[in-house]
Parts: sequence; structure tokens; C-alpha cells
Amino acid sequence: MRRIYLDYAATTPTHPEVVKAMLPYFTDVFGNPSSIYSYGQEAKGAIEEARSKVADLIGAQSEELVFTSGGTEADNFAIKGVAYTNEHKGNHIITTPIEHHAGMETCKSLERRGVRVTYLPVDEHGLVDPDNVRRAITDKTILISVMHANNEMGTIEPIAEIGKIAREARIYFHTDAVQTVGHIPVDVNELGVDLLSMSAHKLYGPKGVGALYVRGGTKLLPFMHGGEQERRRRASTENVPGIVGFGRAIELAKQEMDEEAERLTYLRDQLIKGLLERIDHIRLNGHLTKRLLNNVNVSVDFVEGESMLLNLDLEGICASTGSACSSSSLEPSYVLLALGLSPELAHGSLRFTLGRENTSKDIDYVLEVLPKIVAKLRAMSPLLKSRR
Ligand SMILES: *Cc1c(COP(=O)(O)O)cnc(C)c1O
Repeated sequence: MRRIYLDYAATTPTHPEVVKAMLPYFTDVFGNPSSIYSYGQEAKGAIEEARSKVADLIGAQSEELVFTSGGTEADNFAIKGVAYTNEHKGNHIITTPIEHHAGMETCKSLERRGVRVTYLPVDEHGLVDPDNVRRAITDKTILISVMHANNEMGTIEPIAEIGKIAREARIYFHTDAVQTVGHIPVDVNELGVDLLSMSAHKLYGPKGVGALYVRGGTKLLPFMHGGEQERRRRASTENVPGIVGFGRAIELAKQEMDEEAERLTYLRDQLIKGLLERIDHIRLNGHLTKRLLNNVNVSVDFVEGESMLLNLDLEGICASTGSACSSSSLEPSYVLLALGLSPELAHGSLRFTLGRENTSKDIDYVLEVLPKIVAKLRAMSPLLKSRR
């Protein structure tokens, strides 16, 4: 059977070139980067080379990057790091109700310890209004954390505008850029951020490695205590093959970004247009234009997202409903609820995220298969019958 992967926001396959770059660091160059003999120093050199590649892509200095075990750790490090380090200054954080679980649950854990968190409203497209950020600031505010682009419905937030507000108010500003780095241009100075989270496996790198950008001069207590790795900010022997793979993936992303952007935008729009034409009572979630170039998220009336997913899977198509992290729970997506969708519509959502391997044929196939699935499910839907 034909298999079509349309869940690139959940994870991406590791690029063969990335695997090739990583392999020697498991065997030939296995030394501990903290060791002073040449095996160690060679590994250390490879880490620093990767660091400069990642820094270069986002307009940062190498010293401003801390490698982590992924996007989740980067979010935890940024948010808890600022909260713990600035306890004497204040206890108020401003964020959104649409953050990835990694940011959301970190804020909730701080709330249980007495930190006050403001969850800004978002409009029906998932956009944060920068004026609301300005209004939420108090003299106790120590951190603003707003994601660059949402992983579920793809909306890209006005980070640069919020960055200006944060700078004027001299408040630390963090963004989760896991869905944007390597896919669209990201520059820490243009965005005006002090902290920025990244993850390798969302950009054709390996799982289990990511980074946090920390603007020079930002005080942040160590996240992991132990050895002196990562300039004493993150103890533990470095994931050398992972970091090397991350660097190579960033390099490839940079080379292919423009071409892929154009190609994926075209495919995305072909899929959106086709779905809206061929299925009635369907709506696009997220902003139409301020949108990740590979994201299609729709809600289909009178059908359950899970049922569509299972039927798509039978036809060889991998998609998702809500985010990968919530797909095993029966709760509707908190992100879609925050846009004002009813629980029924949130339950009837479907996310397709496109990537390197997809072609126009894949889109045609989805457009052929999904309308039939929807028709079949609607024919047996108790939701539909109760409305007639
Ligand atoms: C995937 C993802 C994360 C988590 O990254 P991991 O490397 O899997 O821990 C965080 N934020 C966003 C927006 C993501 O899409």
C-alpha cells in the first residue's frame, strides 16, 4: 500500500546526510568533549562547529547557544530559568493559551508554586494582539513567553512587535520557535527575543537534541547541576552525535529553505483549496496568510477527528488531530478551544503538515480519499442525525 506521511509537525525523518554526518561520532570520535586528549578535543571541535552553524542561521553568537535534550527542555530552561533567577524582582509571567505543552505545563507548574501567570486572549485565527501584551505588563512582570508559530493550527505570531514592547519595558522575552527555525527565516535580533527554543527533530535532524538561545547578558541559573559543560549552564556529557546531526540539519535547511518554502506553500494551498471545495461544512483553522507554509488544519462538522484519522490510516495516510502529544487523550484540543471553536468542532479537527517527501500526487490522493471518508462517516453519524 501507498504510505503518505503528512505529520511533519510531529516529527520529521532524519535526513540521510544528517545520519552520515553523525555516524563517526558514535565510533571513531567517541571521546568525551571534556577530555584533553585529541579524541576529546576532536569531539569538542565538532560541537563548536555545530554551534556556530546553528547560531549563524538565527543571527546569534555561538556563545549564546546552549544545547539541550530538545525543545521541551529548552522551553523549561527558559521559563523556569527566568522565573527562578528573577524571584527577587517579580513573580508575574505573561504567556498565551496556545503554547505547546512544554511551555504551557511549565507555566502551570510555576503557578502551583505561587507565580502569577496571565494567559493572553487570542482572536479567532489564533493571533495575539500586541496591545494586550502591553496592557498585561505590571511592575512584577519578569517574563513574556509567546510562541513563534503554533504547532497545531500554524498561525505565526507578531513576535517582532511584541519584542519591541518587551524591550521598552525591559522584560525578558522568550519564544518557542521549534516550528519555524529551519523552515522560515528566524533572526533573534529582528524578532527582539532574549530566549528562543529550537528542536532538531522538527527540521530533519535527530530526536533528543535541541538548543536554547540565550541573549548575551541574560542571567540564567544553571538548569542542570553537575559538570561545567555548556559554560556551566547545562551539565551532562554532551550528546555529540546528536549535536553534530543538528548542525548538519541546520546547514541543509539553510540551503533548501527558499526552494522548499515555495514548493510547500504551493502544495499547502492546493490542499486547502481542494478540501474547502470538495467537502461541505468544513472550516480552516488558524490564520489564512500568517501561517506556517506546511500547515493545513481543518474542522469538519458532524465527524470525529479520531474516526477520520483511523480511516485515513487504513488508506495509508498519516495525519493528526490536535497535537501528537494530546492524540492519546480524548480531550478536545485546548488550542482550538482557545480560538473559540465549540468542543464538537475541536473534536472534528484534522491536521496535515507537509514536508520534504510530499508531492502534488500525495495531495491529489488525500483529496480523492478524504471526501469519501467524510461522506461515509457522516452517513452513520449520530451527531448529524440529531440535527436533522
Ligand atoms: C515538538 C515541539 C516542542 C517539543 O520539542 P521536543 O524536541 O520534542 O521536546 C516544543 N514546542 C513546539 C512548538 C513543538 O512543535
